[in-house]
Amino acid sequence: MATMQKAANIQNICVYCGSGPGLNPAFVEAARAFGRILAAEGIGLVYGGGGLGLMGETARSVLNHGGRVTGVIPDFLSQREHMLLEAQELIVVDNMHERKHLMFVKSDAFVALSGGLGTLEEFVEQLTWSQLEQHQKPIVLANIDGFWDPLLTLFARMRNEGFIRPGLELHLQVVDRVDAIIPAISRALVPRAERAEAEAKVGAKF
Ligand code: AMP
Repeated sequence: MATMQKAANIQNICVYCGSGPGLNPAFVEAARAFGRILAAEGIGLVYGGGGLGLMGETARSVLNHGGRVTGVIPDFLSQREHMLLEAQELIVVDNMHERKHLMFVKSDAFVALSGGLGTLEEFVEQLTWSQLEQHQKPIVLANIDGFWDPLLTLFARMRNEGFIRPGLELHLQVVDRVDAIIPAISRALVPRAERAEAEAKVGAKF
């Protein structure tokens, strides 16, 4: 299937990124640029619902370019992370588990921009679920300015040491520019019906 047609099958992309802006201006630029791309492609953003840092930059950029935003935020973070009231859909949940679950269910693919522990945790969780064949949704690491190089080195070490091994494959696309994200997702995208069938086969439950 051509990349353009496949992009048309992506309704929502979940973006994980920092609740802070980071020190490298390239990270804010990447967040804004990816927000613009999502809006232009007609793909909705699913994210943690905050208004701060790279999360806020991404969401505001989607909105400023006429796109759709779904924010999912736990009640206890609504003040601390400055819940983005302008989002078309803002879902306030009871806890972090509900947040992550809803972000998972609503999304066709996952992208990590630069960020801190929260970003790492959410992104790695998706990788482990896919490693265990609980889902087949594409996962893309946006390695802007080599930010994630140390993590990629660790993954290589895990492979060399036999922890990442046949049967526990790492299903990950790595790109170094935000304009390569949607094409990478499109290449890895499994049609919905096929995805549901595979998930049913392994008894995935969400
Ligand atoms: P950070 O990358 O640490 O700036 O966090 C990015 C987002 O992840 C923020 O919305 C945090 O609230 C969220 N977050 C932090 N820790 C976790 C966690 N253990 N699980 C899921 N989300 C988290």
